Amino acid sequence: MEEMERYLHRLITRHRSATKEGKPAQYIPELARQNPDALAITAVTTEGRTYGAGECPGYFTLQSIAKVITLIVALMDRGEEAIFHQVGMEPTGDPFDSLYKMELTAGEKLRKPLNPMINAGAMVVCSLVRGNTLDERIQRIIHVIKEMSGNPEVHIDWSVYESERETADRNRALAYILKEYHMIQRVEETLELYFQQSSISVRCEDLARIGLCLAQNGRNVDGKQVIPESVARIVKTFMVTCGMYDQSGEFAIRVGIPAKSGVSGSIVAAIPFRMGIGIIGPALNERGNSVAGLRILRDLSMEWNLSIF
Ligand code: GLU
Repeated sequence: MEEMERYLHRLITRHRSATKEGKPAQYIPELARQNPDALAITAVTTEGRTYGAGECPGYFTLQSIAKVITLIVALMDRGEEAIFHQVGMEPTGDPFDSLYKMELTAGEKLRKPLNPMINAGAMVVCSLVRGNTLDERIQRIIHVIKEMSGNPEVHIDWSVYESERETADRNRALAYILKEYHMIQRVEETLELYFQQSSISVRCEDLARIGLCLAQNGRNVDGKQVIPESVARIVKTFMVTCGMYDQSGEFAIRVGIPAKSGVSGSIVAAIPFRMGIGIIGPALNERGNSVAGLRILRDLSMEWNLSIF
């Protein structure tokens, strides 16, 4: 076994007990059923080597990580100017599904969600993805994930989708506020696309390859430029400023690696020109980040000196 793989095994062993300190997301019943003890990490290097440790539970849903990909597609479709006319570039310091700032900005002339990594921003971004039908639009998002990860089997987990759709009162509220402010038009279709992209399923190694693709400014593991360099730079910057919910500032200081988490307990990380990392650990802290995942990334960054700062 190579040194890297041995090291990843040590990290998993060291932080396995942290899974007891959190629990899977409860607000989506299908996610609440995830195994709280699951913990796995995969790293894929720029040389194309794959190292893994822990037990990956097979496919899991991207949840908020999908916001990164949907932003990539919308930026490729419409360009930077059009996107940032509709959605801001600033971190919020609030939970991902907060309604608070929406109300606060209500009196202003140009209203827009603060950034594309919070739910309101991601919904606006969803509404900007091109395609004649809902199916065409979601397939275009899935296609980019297949290109970035090299896995043609990426698919939607329809039971997680149904489960989220049935319990999404807060997201519906957000979407209807966005409609009232004329930030989105077709509210039901936008919500559908939002739920479907959250339920796209990947494996740990797919996440690592997605991270690698970003780490290589849009080139996938085979060296193919699958997203423009300028788009990769923008999304990596959002990962630094808003990728870890309202814990992004602390994460930047303690870890210092562009990363995005999802409430499935997944984390994708991009270590510039070195490697991509995928982690799954469904036990979450109160901010919605994988407890063990955070500790693993903190140690990895410190012990290998990987902070970009
Ligand atoms: N399905 C989730 C929601 O909007 C995505 C959230 C997340 O991973 O942060 O509630």
